[in-house]
Amino acid sequence: MNASPCASRRLFFALWPDEALREVLAAHVCRRLPRRLGRSVPTAHLHITLLFLGNVPATRVSCIEEAGARADAPPFEIVLDRLGYWPRPRVFWVGPSHSPAALFQLVGSLRRALEPCGLTLDGRPFQAHMTLLRKVARPPARKIDITPVSWQVSDFALVESCPVEGGVRYRPLHVWPLAAAGGGGEAGR
Ligand code: ATP
Ligand code: MG
Repeated sequence: MNASPCASRRLFFALWPDEALREVLAAHVCRRLPRRLGRSVPTAHLHITLLFLGNVPATRVSCIEEAGARADAPPFEIVLDRLGYWPRPRVFWVGPSHSPAALFQLVGSLRRALEPCGLTLDGRPFQAHMTLLRKVARPPARKIDITPVSWQVSDFALVESCPVEGGVRYRPLHVWPLAAAGGGGEAGR
């Protein structure tokens, strides 16, 4: 892996939309949200976290990359059709009303593959969500209509979260394809 330009290695596995899907999300979801509800996540940052690893010692990074290469699940579709608000992290999100089995399979496979890396992982049940707004003090007063967005998920990414002035910047480090018949291999990107 290339040397990181970031001071720390804060890593997470994620579903990472391509540019076309980002534009659809911006048009069909993000632009429907009331202004001033919270701080918008930039379109280029939209993602669904599969597993948050946190700040990882540099010595563990190669083990994490090997785990990503071993993780295994078939491709799947998720339909982002449901908006939600979590008061504690103060985030407003879009997610699927139904999470397909292959999504849980992918998260479970990643967890198992990471066992040799000796990380302490969040044990809370996985809830698929894409954060749209941060610092949301209270949920919107009126119902918001969005157009459901279908996402054909065919790969997943290991992403680095780099602290920059005024926030973070995300940098996908590796992308692995989901293989219908199992197996792995890194996709070029
Ligand atoms: P900032 O923390 O500066 O507001 P951020 O939350 O976007 O920015 P990170 O904290 O690096 O950046 O998080 C990266 C991703 O991992 C985000 O999707 C975030 O919601 C998720 N995440 C962060 N902390 C946790 C955690 N403790 N458990 C689960 N997911 C987390
Ligand atoms: Mg955070």
